[in-house]
Amino acid sequence: MFLTSLLFAVLPPQFAGFEEQDALSYEIDLSFDYEETFVEADVNMRFQLQSSSDRIWLHSTEGKKWSMEFFNAKNQKLETLRNGQLLEVLLGGELPKGSIVELRVHLSGTPPDGLYFEEGRHGEPVLFTDHFSSRARGWLPCEDHPSDRASFSVHVNVPKGWEFISSGLDEDGDGVWKTKTDLPTYMLAFAAAPWARIEEKGDPRLIPHFIYKKDKPRARLGLKHHAEWMQSMESTFGPYSWEKYCVVQVPTRWGGMENAGNTWIMERLFDGRDRGVGTLAHEFVHMWFGNAAGYGEWYEAWLSEGFATYFGPWLHAQVGGPPLRRSMEGSRRRWRSSSCSDIRPIRWKEFEAPDDFFSSSAPNTYQKAAWVLHMLRGELGDGAFFEGISNYYASISPGIATTPQFIEAMEASSGRKLGWFFEQWLDRPGCPQLSIRWEGESVFVEQLQEDLFRFRLPLQWTNGEGKRQKQVFEVRQRTHKFSLGSKVSAPAVDPDVELLYR
Ligand SMILES: [Zn+2]
Repeated sequence: MFLTSLLFAVLPPQFAGFEEQDALSYEIDLSFDYEETFVEADVNMRFQLQSSSDRIWLHSTEGKKWSMEFFNAKNQKLETLRNGQLLEVLLGGELPKGSIVELRVHLSGTPPDGLYFEEGRHGEPVLFTDHFSSRARGWLPCEDHPSDRASFSVHVNVPKGWEFISSGLDEDGDGVWKTKTDLPTYMLAFAAAPWARIEEKGDPRLIPHFIYKKDKPRARLGLKHHAEWMQSMESTFGPYSWEKYCVVQVPTRWGGMENAGNTWIMERLFDGRDRGVGTLAHEFVHMWFGNAAGYGEWYEAWLSEGFATYFGPWLHAQVGGPPLRRSMEGSRRRWRSSSCSDIRPIRWKEFEAPDDFFSSSAPNTYQKAAWVLHMLRGELGDGAFFEGISNYYASISPGIATTPQFIEAMEASSGRKLGWFFEQWLDRPGCPQLSIRWEGESVFVEQLQEDLFRFRLPLQWTNGEGKRQKQVFEVRQRTHKFSLGSKVSAPAVDPDVELLYR
């Protein structure tokens, strides 16, 4: 929460959190008419004031056909002030710091955003939320920022023959789904549609997946690794934090969206040759990284996407997917050819909207961040790398992590100072641009970019006796001359895909 104050000056307020208050809970009771695209809902919300105040701040999108009325705990109507997406609910008087404020909002009409009535690709009716990154406010007035996690309960009246799925669990069987672990608003998700079920065995936390009836045969081919992945993730990083797991096919704007415990997957996920297994692995990794070890500022999204982009292919490789090295080659190619790579750092603080991290800056947030983990692993070795990450996970989960906390865990497991490593890779744009010249028994290495990087440069060559040799050289100056001991032929730079460079 303290970091946000530094950013208030540059961050547009509609994408900042509200330090004045802490959102505690949202209780949603909703009915809908699919044909009329009409929603009627009551939401009870509770906040704790972090300083004395006469108002609650909310993010909310205005809509011509969308009405909202606020009431206090005594059912008295409350006045509101709107400025774009910022909504102030006036409490009628100043309340002291620490007060718990209870509000009810009555919503009705057609939601402007975030909650959608759509037709599935085979014509099936689907009602679903798609909140990432800042679209919960599209229908639900809320504190729509990842730094403020809250508990949710969701009850939706669903037509006969439709299935319903939500964050949390309907433990009492009364149709009210409650979360046990707090969520940011972007991760809250519910949906209703007449899906088919696919059961996956091998772990009691797996509940049936919801898939369009026509896609069931091909979906079956992809949905079979979660129990194995659960075991691999838990034994490597630590316990799963959510009530259940399933994936749900909806017309989401994303390829996949890692809603905690119920991942949304795009409609055509199972059409491809790998039947979506790579994406399923990526989303499953998010249950640990991004969700249980979450982030509280948008510029920290690499703690989510970098981990999923690295450990997703790592998990995929365990069930017959391509070797990790091939994924890293693909990631490097993608990042090198992107327009953000040399102008913005991964932790980019001058963004205009959170979606920038997942669109124009996505190659930094995903591919380069995965490369940061890959090079960190090379730097520390597998022992310290995996130990540091599982200690980091244990110290955060479930909750909000920061990059300094991650660095601290990695320094502790390796016994090394790593500030230089993270500063150059996370807070600086670009990568080493190298000129490499092989001459006789030597190799000359020059860094061409402005600020010097420090890194391990793997080189391979055939020596005078015809033997293939590989050696890793530490580079930290502008120019280096390394002696190779004999005349060199067939030289190769980074033969095993270990360095992000140009
Ligand atoms: Zn992701």
